[in-house]
Amino acid sequence: MRISKIYAAYKPVISFEIFPPRTEDRADIVSRLAADFRKLGPAFISVTYGAGGTTRDTTVEIASLLSGFGFTVMSHLTGVGHTVKEVDEVLARLHAAGVENILALRGDPPRETANVYTAGDFAYAVDLIRHLRSKGVFGIAAAAYPEGHIESPRIDLDWRHLKEKVDAGAEFLVTQLFFDNRVFYHFLESIRRMGIFCPVTAGILPVLNAGLLKRIVSLCGASVPAKVLGLLDRYADDPVSLEKAGIEYATAQVADLIANDVDGVHLYTLNRPEWVTQLLNNIGYKRREYLPASQAGLAR
Ligand code: FAD
Repeated sequence: MRISKIYAAYKPVISFEIFPPRTEDRADIVSRLAADFRKLGPAFISVTYGAGGTTRDTTVEIASLLSGFGFTVMSHLTGVGHTVKEVDEVLARLHAAGVENILALRGDPPRETANVYTAGDFAYAVDLIRHLRSKGVFGIAAAAYPEGHIESPRIDLDWRHLKEKVDAGAEFLVTQLFFDNRVFYHFLESIRRMGIFCPVTAGILPVLNAGLLKRIVSLCGASVPAKVLGLLDRYADDPVSLEKAGIEYATAQVADLIANDVDGVHLYTLNRPEWVTQLLNNIGYKRREYLPASQAGLAR
């Protein structure tokens, strides 16, 4: 199903991100994940794509597996370093497996290339979006940065590039993680004023451990509010309590987003269904069957 049809019918749309496991038993791991996720009923599941195509085959494999299980799937796809031919091969395999949605990204050069990455036909995500649009068979999403993309010299400049992605064919946006909802609300108001009116789903990742938080924040540049730093201090020697507090913090974030009428929440599951289950239970989320707008009546 095209995900844009879900946003046209429901609010909030709850969706999950997973990554392809690196081990040989990845199909078994994802089958178990799928069984847990089925009980929670996400609108769709997205599958990450390793920088520069490093998980090309496993992303296609896992996205295809989930599609075969009956989930609505969105495959991430990064353009940087890829030729049109390579991208088309990936798209053909996804299409054959019934995957109808792509999160079109520029991506980052793999670390071993020392940040020099000039080969390929897609300099920016917008180039991949235009290519996907010309094919006409995929629903298209793009990434958005409530605090501005880490490389961008000015936030408003980044958001102008965001508008280019929407004008080129991105039907909805998935945000980078953030820990302060005020940042998201400010971003949303700003881009609406700039004429970006498509659905925007809020990317949420709880603080599950200090090391992971540092790694992710150093990559994406998201700011960490005093309240979260306080949790890291308080539970520096108690990882179990830190994780519990992190899930509570994320629960409060999601509850507040829903109270403020957000289009959707995309949970970065890290392939760990237990915290996702806990968070959705905490907010009293009721499993629902997401149908396309044409069949859903007045669900929204
Ligand atoms: P773009 O939109 O192309 O923007 C990149 C930078 O270039 C920005 O600073 C932008 O302002 C600037 N820019 C854009 N267009 C132009 C232009 N025409 N001229 C000049 N400057 C321009 N990475 C992965 O490798 N795999 C994943 O699966 C993955 N999933 C992600 C999911 C989400 C929800 C998010 C938010 C990010 C994800 N990323 C993933 C990370 C992403 O690849 C990086 O953040 C990357 O640096 C930028 O990708 P983009 O698609 O946002 O790029």
